[in-house]
Amino acid sequence: MQDIINKLINALGPNKVLTDDENLSRYARDFWPLLMMREQVLHEKIPKPLAVVVPGSVNDISLTLRIMNEYGGGIPIVVYGGGSSVTGASMGSGSIIIDITRLNKVLNIDTYDLTITVEAGAKLRDVEAELNSMGFSLRHIPQSFNYATIGGLIATMSSGQYSTLYGNVEDAILNLEVVLPTGEVIWLRRNTVPRASTGPSLKYLFVGSEGMLGIITKAVLRIVPLPKSTRYGSFTFNALNDGIKVLRELMTRRLVPAVARLYDEYESSIRFGIDKPNINY
Ligand SMILES: Cc1cc2nc3c(=O)[nH]c(=O)nc-3n(C[C@H](O)[C@H](O)[C@H](O)COP(=O)(O)OP(=O)(O)OC[C@H]3O[C@@H](n4cnc5c(N)ncnc54)[C@H](O)[C@@H]3O)c2cc1C
Repeated sequence: MQDIINKLINALGPNKVLTDDENLSRYARDFWPLLMMREQVLHEKIPKPLAVVVPGSVNDISLTLRIMNEYGGGIPIVVYGGGSSVTGASMGSGSIIIDITRLNKVLNIDTYDLTITVEAGAKLRDVEAELNSMGFSLRHIPQSFNYATIGGLIATMSSGQYSTLYGNVEDAILNLEVVLPTGEVIWLRRNTVPRASTGPSLKYLFVGSEGMLGIITKAVLRIVPLPKSTRYGSFTFNALNDGIKVLRELMTRRLVPAVARLYDEYESSIRFGIDKPNINY
C-alpha cells in the first residue's frame, strides 16, 4: 500500500496527503452513533483509513482519481465533506479519504437570476451567512447546518426545516460540476437557465449518490430573497390525529407553511414546558 501513497505524495506534494496517526484517527468515523459509542463508550479502536488526500483544486481531485485508477488495487475512495453523516457513509476504514473542504469558495452570487455558484466543500453555514448579508438565502436549513458542506448535502439528498415550502436540496440544483471516477471533469448541464426541457436530467444521478458515481466539486443553486417578515403560531389539539388531519388539509389545499411541526403529548411537554403527561416511554 505504501507505493500508492508515495505516488500520491509525489504527484500532489506532502502537505496534501496526510498519513499521521492523529489525522487518520480523525477521519476514521463520521457521526454514525454506533461507531461513536464503540469509540467513546466501549473504547474500541476504529479501523483507520490508509491516507487522507486534501486537494486544493479540482485538478488535484482529477489527478488523484487518475493515479488510483492506474494503480487499480481495488482501494476504496471515500469523499469526506463535513463528516456529519449518521450512517457511517463517510467513515474511512482501509480507504483513501478525499477531504474536499479546501474547495470552499463562493464563486458567484447572481442577484438578478437568483443563483449562487459555490465550491462543494463550502460549509452551508458560511454560504448562508454570505447570502444573508446580501438579503438572500438558500432556505435550506437542516439540523446539521453548522457541519454540512454543499457537496455533502447534495450527495445525501438532504431535507431541511423549510423544505415543505422551499423544496429539498435537489429542487435548488441548477447545475453540478463533477469529477468522474476516471478523473474526467464535467458539468452536467451546458447552461444554468432556470428551466430547460432537454433531458434526461443527470443531476438526479448525483443527488443522493453518496460519492458512488463521482465527486461533486461545484454547484449552481437557486437562491431566494430573505422573507420581509415571518409569522409564527402554535395551536393545541385535543388529539394527535386531529393535528394530522389539519396538516393534511393544509397541504392538500396547498396552503403550504414554511415549517409545520406536530408534537405529541410527550414532546409538547418537553418543548413547551406544559404539564408533563403521565406517559412512560
Ligand atoms: C446533528 C445532525 C443533524 C442532522 N440533520 C439533518 C437534517 O436535518 N436533514 C438531513 O437531510 N440530514 C441531516 N443530518 C445528516 C447529515 O448531516 C446530512 O446528510 C449532511 O448533508 C451531510 O453533509 P456532510 O458535508 O457532513 O457530508 P459527509 O458526512 O462528509 O458525507 C456524507 C456522504 O456524502 C458523500 N459526499 C460528501 N461530499 C461529497 C461530494 N462533494 N461529492 C460526492 N459525495 C460526497 C460522502 O462520501 C458520504 O457518503 C444530520 C446529521 C447530524 C449529525
